[in-house]
Amino acid sequence: MADLERKQDRSPVPSAFEYATAPESREIVRLDERYGLFVGGEWVEPRSGEFQVTVSPATEEPLAEVAYGGAEDVDLAVEAAREAFDDGWSELPASERAKYLFRIARILQERSREFAVLESLDGGKPIRESRDVDVPLSAAHFFYYAGWADKLEYAFPNRTPRPVGVAGQVIPWNFPLLMLSWKIAPALAAGNTVVLKPAETTPLTALLFCDVLRQAELPPGVVNIVTGDGRAGAELVKHPDVDKVAFTGSTEVGKAIQKAVAGTGKKLTLELGGKAANIIFDDAALDQAVEGIVNGIYFNQGHVCCAGSRLFVQESIYEATIAKLKRRMGTLRVGDPLDKNTDIGAINSQQQLEKIKELVATGEEEGAEIYQPPCRLPEKGWWFAPTVFTNVAQSYRIAQEEIFGPVLSVLTFRTPDEAVEKANNTPYGLSAGVWTEKGSRILSMAQRLRAGVIWANTYNRFDPASPFGGYKESGFGREGGLHGLEPYLRFDE
Ligand code: NAP
Ligand code: MG
Repeated sequence: MADLERKQDRSPVPSAFEYATAPESREIVRLDERYGLFVGGEWVEPRSGEFQVTVSPATEEPLAEVAYGGAEDVDLAVEAAREAFDDGWSELPASERAKYLFRIARILQERSREFAVLESLDGGKPIRESRDVDVPLSAAHFFYYAGWADKLEYAFPNRTPRPVGVAGQVIPWNFPLLMLSWKIAPALAAGNTVVLKPAETTPLTALLFCDVLRQAELPPGVVNIVTGDGRAGAELVKHPDVDKVAFTGSTEVGKAIQKAVAGTGKKLTLELGGKAANIIFDDAALDQAVEGIVNGIYFNQGHVCCAGSRLFVQESIYEATIAKLKRRMGTLRVGDPLDKNTDIGAINSQQQLEKIKELVATGEEEGAEIYQPPCRLPEKGWWFAPTVFTNVAQSYRIAQEEIFGPVLSVLTFRTPDEAVEKANNTPYGLSAGVWTEKGSRILSMAQRLRAGVIWANTYNRFDPASPFGGYKESGFGREGGLHGLEPYLRFDE
């Protein structure tokens, strides 16, 4: 093995083709200088009086000032949501509710370029991804749940589904619009009203979404957006008039929320972190598998809870896989998120960059071998080159902890039993990938891997009809599909 790798290391990494730049125009986005909170269908000044600037992580350029809601603001938003719930939304004929959701979905499609550009500006992800994944999937979620709104009795036969009430929802920065859609679409389809808190570093698409709600003429107060930091999130989840809490974010904050909600009777779903195993068997179609490895860990700069961050390669194909992977990594283009040729954009925040660097340093200290293809990183903004660690032991921090960056840890196995044992050796249980030509092996692996989502011969595929969620420290409850409706309903038979 070492021979081949050394040879590989000596031969020059194929440098990426020189392309001309192909920047997407940002003209389509019109930003206000300053945004208030969206409460009761209106823009209101925050009672907290606090504003902070949101920046583009690719350039550190300030984009807009955004309100930081406090306890009083959360209180007003929950009150507006309660009024809207009592004043008709929950009693509206379900087919009418569906019409609003269909309208929102259509407007998201119509304004998709605007949303894609803004998502990439505010969060640093490549335009190719926001344009082809985040925005279309967001619209698809609204379409999908619009279809369920007037069919709840068929979804849950012989039971009487009723809305829960006011949903308090807190989302992270890695898929801002998509996480908003995962939360808001099923909540509204089931007849609830919503207060949502976007993440601190990526509030802008949630604020643009308020404009969509107005365009769709959604009744005031059905959706309220309170921007701010963790304090606003904490106020929202502990608010006594919130009936259902939905959270996506870190395991640490998830645990704090679980404590805050315990004993209150609120319904709770938690979508937390992950450290997924992507398992390559020796009969896999190797070139496709390498594409799957790259997509699994470098998609969205690795800021993906279900990222395939631990690669397990069967020993007999280890050398060939690593050689192909390194070659492929040399063709990844890191840079301007608004350039249509970019594969890897900016790291979402300086804080996240520090976290990645810290964990990568522990990998080197503990004895893993690091490889990064030569690539020029922009001077301004926050960047990290695609990275792979070989020689990784299961006990290393880079094999145990979520890095949430473009960093892959490679381990090996000999038998399917060993692969299962090692893959399940993590506190998390969100997702996994299996690459093999054998159908029976796919099924037996899927049975034995303790993960909520298991992809076979593909990775990071999402569909609104399919449920998503984890086991163990990855949380509980499912979003998407029929399963995703249930947390927003009560059944008082
Ligand atoms: P985070 O720090 O937990 O933040 C998530 C959200 O919670 C943000 O809006 C945050 O506000 C807010 N928040 C912070 N402290 C809070 C508190 N005490 N009470 C209530 N809300 C609070 O997570 P993150 O670093 O933004 O996101 C990365 C994590 O999310 C990763 O671990 C990733 O795996 C996980 N994730 C999971 C899924 C999934 O579906 N399972 C999807 C995406 C991400 P601020 O923005 O102001 O901090
Ligand atoms: Mg930002």
